[in-house]
Amino acid sequence: MNHTQSKAAFDEALKVIPGGVDSPVRAFKAVGGYPPFISHGKGGHIYDIDGNAYIDYVQSWGPLIFGHGDPDVEAAVIETVKKGLSFGAPTLLETELAKEVLELYPFMDKLRFVSSGTEAVMSAIRLARGFTGRDDIVKFIGCYHGHSDSLLVQAGSGAATFGSPSSPGVPADLTKHTLLAEYNNLESVKKCFADSKNIACIIIEPIAGNMGLVPADEAFLKGLRELCDAHGALLIFDEVMSGFRAGLNGAMAHTSVVPDMATFGKVIGAGMPVGAFGARAEIMAKLSPEGPVYQAGTLSGNPVAMTAGITSLKKLKAAPELYNELEAKARRLTNGLQLAAKEAGVAIQTDVRGSMFGFFFSATPVKNFADAAKCDGGFFARFHQGMLEEGVYLACSLFEAGFISTATTDEMIDATIAAAEKVLKRIA
Ligand SMILES: *Cc1c(COP(=O)(O)O)cnc(C)c1O
Repeated sequence: MNHTQSKAAFDEALKVIPGGVDSPVRAFKAVGGYPPFISHGKGGHIYDIDGNAYIDYVQSWGPLIFGHGDPDVEAAVIETVKKGLSFGAPTLLETELAKEVLELYPFMDKLRFVSSGTEAVMSAIRLARGFTGRDDIVKFIGCYHGHSDSLLVQAGSGAATFGSPSSPGVPADLTKHTLLAEYNNLESVKKCFADSKNIACIIIEPIAGNMGLVPADEAFLKGLRELCDAHGALLIFDEVMSGFRAGLNGAMAHTSVVPDMATFGKVIGAGMPVGAFGARAEIMAKLSPEGPVYQAGTLSGNPVAMTAGITSLKKLKAAPELYNELEAKARRLTNGLQLAAKEAGVAIQTDVRGSMFGFFFSATPVKNFADAAKCDGGFFARFHQGMLEEGVYLACSLFEAGFISTATTDEMIDATIAAAEKVLKRIA
């Protein structure tokens, strides 16, 4: 595979953009080499500026559940663009998308739109603090909730990939209210509540996708609910990644535990910048302008972005059986990876939640970040490089989940498995 153009483009970008990228996870630092520069995507494939095609399991890090260039989303967005890009005034589209989301999450009465997952979680935390009148929050090691100050502690994903679990520039005064607990370990959460009487909320990815794919155990989630109820704290599900991905109503399709608030991003904007957070009316009433907790955004609820979300959610709701098909494809892939690894004598763990899949080259199950961090990063990097050369675009870090889209065909999956067999045999 020839990467001459991408290499030149990356060198050029490095001169004007730190690390050559606008989000660190794109830089391929953990796996080495140059990131392909993308010219376009179609269905299940992306194409780089050297003309190479890749089967895409990143899908813009989750949003594109219908794959690239979905004709319905594209047509609706173009229609809206013609009417104007933004007004900074209410449109019908915001109410429409809010209703589409709320219908899927009955515990929420109201929702507010923002422009990213980071903003959604940051605002939800502020609201939880404002509602409870408390300052502390409980966060899990390895969960990522965006890059806002108080959440950038042991944050998995890009932060873990770059070995900067917390970041310079974040004052200790801002993170001292962030209590850390271990994922799937209820005792560690009990300890937080023993240490602090000032806990506003627990924030969790109910299906973690930022330390690789690591779902929370049902008993663990139940325990969190009980602790929150016993101490008057709010339980927040960060569904920025799992929402409309793990199922039509995200993690709710996999657990009976009901949170107090949820945050959204990624699929809710179908590739456009959208985030949202919601809760029952009593909590949302604290939000400005109804209540005193301030939160705002010039481009929040942007009509073009709302249109992409509405079109995408309506399509998903019209065909809920899609999730069974996506899950079957994800299992076809992980079963194939299991076999390929076995043949090559490589230990592997795999998991699937709806259209999300994950794999770890590990002999033992991965339940938390410490387990994930034990995996051999060098081996993952060789696997990633090998797969890329075979035309398979996987997330460039072992701490990321993978995604199946409706445009990912069985043929693409079988080609991916064949590539994995070849690469694993070579590097094992
Ligand atoms: C991606 C992600 C975020 C941050 O969303 P951005 O749109 O990148 O700001 C927050 N939480 C989770 C669980 C995510 O996966």
